[in-house]
Amino acid sequence: MASVRHALRLSSRVRCFSSTAARPAADVKRLGVLGAGQMGLGIALVAAQKAQVPVTLVDSSQASLDKGIAFAEKLLAKDVGKQRITQEQADAARALLKPTTSLDDLSDVDFVIEAVPEIPELKFDIFAKLAQICPKHAILATNTSSISITRIAAAATGGNPNDTSNSSRVVSTHFMNPVPVQKGVEIISGLQTSPETLDTAIEFCKRLGKVPSISADSPGFLANRILMPYINEAIICLETGVGDRDSIDAIMKNGTNVPMGPLQLADFIGLDTCLAIMKVLHTETGDSKYRPSVLLKNMVAAGWLGKKSGKGFYDY
Ligand code: NAD
Repeated sequence: MASVRHALRLSSRVRCFSSTAARPAADVKRLGVLGAGQMGLGIALVAAQKAQVPVTLVDSSQASLDKGIAFAEKLLAKDVGKQRITQEQADAARALLKPTTSLDDLSDVDFVIEAVPEIPELKFDIFAKLAQICPKHAILATNTSSISITRIAAAATGGNPNDTSNSSRVVSTHFMNPVPVQKGVEIISGLQTSPETLDTAIEFCKRLGKVPSISADSPGFLANRILMPYINEAIICLETGVGDRDSIDAIMKNGTNVPMGPLQLADFIGLDTCLAIMKVLHTETGDSKYRPSVLLKNMVAAGWLGKKSGKGFYDY
């Protein structure tokens, strides 16, 4: 808690020296989304439906774009079938999605959200490029689960730490999975993020129908700092025989009124993702309370990653 307060104090001190040309969220007329995977596609679709802005959806893989657009069409058709939206609304949302494999097509967006895989060097490289390609007023947001926003903002300067015009417009909008369903979004400032950038990010997420929570740039932010130790502890309980799989999931599901227990939830998130986040918490804080469970490490080593690989704590 002391370190979170410290991070917030540092952020507010630096903000006094930052500058940005960020515009109000209402002025976001065109969105860019980078990565058409499960998160990027969800963000793009929600933006097309709720904010009704054109969305330039960039992915380096044409196959991912095709798969993403097909999935968006399926979700829209399902909404029409359940009479949540009309066919006209579905067609209008679909028409707003502009898939492309060219990063240069982000040269006219007002706000861009990056959702490529959780690989630090990949995100650093992308933010250095986005700072050059996107208009100077555009907000550069990341959907990272665990990578420091301050480090991503530093990458946007292209190696010049005094370039606050680029680092001050970097922020995190950490959406929850599945994006069309989950209302929560974490908004995280780096040390360099300006108050205007933060305000625009909060307001734009509200335009998407989301409920923002603010957290400091601290390992795991809020959601994963709380959620991952809970999942890890459930795995330790299984590993040490405190309870079997069904007892662990049943007591948490029926005892805390959540839709699924921690082991099933871990399978849905992906055990590799859970392990990666536990490692960030453990190495960045140096606190042994975040040590990943041996069983979690072994399951990832076995290739049992949960739902996406067909086997985890459950079989799929
Ligand atoms: P994903 O693997 O489903 O999608 C990533 C997409 O990025 C793929 O379509 C891939 O082709 C594309 N891509 C890879 N390199 C690229 C590049 N250089 N340029 C453009 N596109 C590129 O991943 P995801 O689950 O959507 O996660 C994306 C981000 O969101 C990660 O940072 C992750 O940590 C974060 N996140 C994930 C979840 C979750 O539950 N999966 C929840 C919150 C946040």
